[in-house]
Amino acid sequence: MTARVLVVDDVELNVKLLEAKLSSEYFQVIPAFNGPTALDLAEAELPDIILLDVMMPRMDGFEVCRRLKANPRTTDIPVVMVTALSDIADRLRGLEAGADDFLTKPVNDIALFARVRSLVRLKRMMEELRLREEICGRFGNPEESGEHAEAITGAHILLVEQQGFGASRIAETLSPLAQSVRQVGSGDEANATLDEAVELIILSLSMPDGDPLRLVSQWRASEPFRQLPILLLADEGELPRLAKGLDLGANDYLIRPVDRNELLARVRSQVRRKRLQDRLRENYRRSLSLALTDELTGLYNRRYVVAHLEELVARVNNDGAADTSLMMFDVDHFKQVNDKFGHPGGDDALRQLADRALRGVRSIDLVARLGGEEFVVVMPETPLQAATMVAERLRKSVAGEPFLMHGTGDSVQVTISIGVAVAQSGDTVDALLQRADDALYQAKNSGRNKVVAQDGAVMPPPLAVAS
Ligand code: GH3
Ligand code: MG
Ligand code: MG
Repeated sequence: MTARVLVVDDVELNVKLLEAKLSSEYFQVIPAFNGPTALDLAEAELPDIILLDVMMPRMDGFEVCRRLKANPRTTDIPVVMVTALSDIADRLRGLEAGADDFLTKPVNDIALFARVRSLVRLKRMMEELRLREEICGRFGNPEESGEHAEAITGAHILLVEQQGFGASRIAETLSPLAQSVRQVGSGDEANATLDEAVELIILSLSMPDGDPLRLVSQWRASEPFRQLPILLLADEGELPRLAKGLDLGANDYLIRPVDRNELLARVRSQVRRKRLQDRLRENYRRSLSLALTDELTGLYNRRYVVAHLEELVARVNNDGAADTSLMMFDVDHFKQVNDKFGHPGGDDALRQLADRALRGVRSIDLVARLGGEEFVVVMPETPLQAATMVAERLRKSVAGEPFLMHGTGDSVQVTISIGVAVAQSGDTVDALLQRADDALYQAKNSGRNKVVAQDGAVMPPPLAVAS
């Protein structure tokens, strides 16, 4: 993930330190050394996230945060307050000023990256949701508008923690936003009770039986819990396992003893993300009733995806938004599938292909059928190289397992060729689609069942040995 981070601190060394850490993970840093400059830069640059020092002369961090949140242009940018370790009162004031989260100084890497990633992801999801709502609205389906500041209440939380480890205190702290906090003491119990009503799992790393990290990887690997937020609870001494857990896909963490405000802030962010995600899906279901989806596969259709791309391309042109990439794919020798299994058999294969593509991408990626046996996947916030990897993964997943035809028991092996392009400044939708199409054409010409990117990258990589 790449993102632009505005780092605000009156002490230059602090800015430099954060800058060094963030750039090592390919985040782009915009520095500011006082409140007024930070406000100007926030409005001019529209960063993805703001790390904001509390103690600054002239205008302190609370005031900066209040002003950011009061300005409609900057209100959606997540703000993380950076406070001294001991200042619990500061945290509370920060949250009251509208901060989304906080970090304590000295800032440790795990905390920094976990929070920045989690909040940037949330912001992206939000942007994507607003965009889809806006486009559906444009085609005559007014949606209720996206609301960031919406209070989180009525959440359903699963707490996997031994009794007596402060579980009841956690449940009690969460009572303002939770409708239910189900507490279980083991992984088996968690699996037995986990259902689709659950919006967040809080998972303790110190459980007597079962390996919590195994649970994380198990949930991450299986529908329907692949995207369910997981918040880890750890002791100070468990940092290495914690890092592993975040790598495996847990979304965030808390260190014991748990600070109440911190717990509330983290839970609120995660539940908000889950709800946005659900709304994206719900939205999509609603747009089915419009003329914006393809009847055969249920995917978005060309009309929708072109409108969507127009908006994304305009953003890239206007404010240099993060990279948006696109892959276009086409079934290889699809005529042969029709010839062998008939047109209905071909339809069945196309539907299954659509499913496989949907399952292989993130919920903010948009999968559409352009027509015939040609599809696109629009990937916001994805540089060309990453998009090429995603395309290669999809190519493999299609080639790797035949589709089982409904009813007949026949199986059909298909492959796809993919062209990948990235939106660039000065782009138009036509030009972008054309680059993807050109790359796709090259993939077809170089033997099919291949990925070719607009920069000439080819997957799988050609064998080095000359023939
Ligand atoms: P290649 O792309 O590898 O060059 O070969 P191809 O055989 O896939 O190429 P072509 O684009 O010429 O053929 C596409 C075929 O897809 C022709 C058309 O009858 C069939 N087709 C298009 N839309 C549908 C559909 O909705 N259902 C079915 N069953 N077939 C379709
Ligand atoms: Mg084809
Ligand atoms: Mg074709």
